[in-house]
Amino acid sequence: MLALLLAAVTVSTAFEGGNLGKVETAAPDHLRLAVKGQADQNGRNRQANWYYFELRNLPKGAFRFDLTDLVGEYNFKPGSHAVTKGTRPVYSYDGGRTWTHFTDDQVSWNEDAKELTVRFVPAKPLIRIAHTPPYTNSNLQALLKEFAAKSYLKQESIGASVHGRSLPLLTITDFEAPESGKKVIWWMVRQHAWETGTSWALEGGLRKLLAPESAGLRKRFVFKVLPCPDPDGMAEGGVRFNVNGYDINRNWDAIDPATMPEIAAMRKAILAWVDSGHRIDLFLAMHNTESVDYIDTMLSTGGPELNTLAQRFQRLLNEKTVFYAPNGPRDAGESTTPGMKGRKTVHQELFAARKVPAFLMEQMVENHPRLHRPPTVQDRLDFGAALVDVLTEAVTPAQP
Ligand SMILES: [Zn+2]
Repeated sequence: MLALLLAAVTVSTAFEGGNLGKVETAAPDHLRLAVKGQADQNGRNRQANWYYFELRNLPKGAFRFDLTDLVGEYNFKPGSHAVTKGTRPVYSYDGGRTWTHFTDDQVSWNEDAKELTVRFVPAKPLIRIAHTPPYTNSNLQALLKEFAAKSYLKQESIGASVHGRSLPLLTITDFEAPESGKKVIWWMVRQHAWETGTSWALEGGLRKLLAPESAGLRKRFVFKVLPCPDPDGMAEGGVRFNVNGYDINRNWDAIDPATMPEIAAMRKAILAWVDSGHRIDLFLAMHNTESVDYIDTMLSTGGPELNTLAQRFQRLLNEKTVFYAPNGPRDAGESTTPGMKGRKTVHQELFAARKVPAFLMEQMVENHPRLHRPPTVQDRLDFGAALVDVLTEAVTPAQP
């Protein structure tokens, strides 16, 4: 009888980046929450690993929710799921400003049903919960506004998304120092909207690059940064495809400005840079995945120079960061699905089109062997700052 008098817990996703599927009330203190997921333009490769929702009117006692409908496909292989036994949702009691992972003793995994259950005692009646710490367009705009007056940060728009949001390109350098003596690094994050860890890492990197103590670096380097390849996904809670279903890290060999204007605009900007006589010493696209860290480039076709760069990049990551890739760099091959059009990643395409020394980086969201915890926001910020040193040293070999 008492339970009937309690106000029902309600669920909201009506905010930037919010997303969840069907909500079922199993009991007043137990919700079953389907993860909506997203499929590609052909209804394939469904991925269900972005959820971001708010629970209101939480009871004072124990509460439980199950995340359901997690199974999809990856690269056309059915049965894959990216919410796993090892992923830990994050929560915020302050409207998304600070995030904490649920702990191992609060989380359990049902292998038969492929469901993740969280049991916790709410500290407040309102909580936000997400797969990884959210990073929205508002976070990026706040950061850029903070540095807008700096002469060494140029912001431009290179196009618009399907829903008309701007695609920003940032240039960070000392514009008074001649470009002829500088090395150039292109840095892309967040091709896949759920991979918020890459945005936090970039924020750490940008704060370092824009700090007064980096004046020397800015004289010697040009950083070209693509912080937001899928602004619709960041705003609307997308997973890994643009709003028309096109994977923003496939399709780099199938350009169509009508259905995937994001890829078309970014590819055009990158190739225009190369074709107008500028250099690219290293191109990096950052990603997140469940349980591995690695860098990946065209080892088998890239020749000794690219292989040497890959080894140096890996060694510096080992020395200066917590990056954990004991097996070294991976070989990217020519396509994620050889023989099928529309399956090349940004790094595969840039190497094929202009021999750009391009890398993909994956970083895990599960418990990290060197951190002994799932990476936090601070861990990502620290990594991004250290990555600036890694990237600049990787393209500046010591004199013999
Ligand atoms: Zn990705």
